[in-house]
Amino acid sequence: MADIFDKLKSGLNKGVASVSAGSKALIEKAKINSRIKTLEDEKKQLSELLGAKVYNLFMEKREVSVEEIEGFCNEITKRNEQIKEQQQRLEELEAELNQVMGNTKVGSPICKCGNENPPGAKFCSKCGSAL
Ligand SMILES: [Zn+2]
Repeated sequence: MADIFDKLKSGLNKGVASVSAGSKALIEKAKINSRIKTLEDEKKQLSELLGAKVYNLFMEKREVSVEEIEGFCNEITKRNEQIKEQQQRLEELEAELNQVMGNTKVGSPICKCGNENPPGAKFCSKCGSAL
């Protein structure tokens, strides 16, 4: 993971990114992507543990009680909520980036919602905002 950040940083130091707001958003985006990846991994591990737990109870011919699996389920739900939060933040950043970078793109105005519109459009075809 570290080398991705280094690449990103060195790219930014060379002055490739023209606007500082845009470069900040890029770094933030990479951070959020790695955070989502971690949460997905944790979720996967929890699901596996939960599966193993239920399987063991099954093999011991015992009833699965809510108390025994509750902890795992709650932790998985927590990860799902956190992933959703991070994804929302990512969408906001995409919109921010599109505004900063996309404005320079000739012909196809990109709305703050992230939608790319046909050349010459005055309003977004997706959300109706003025472009
Ligand atoms: Zn829009």
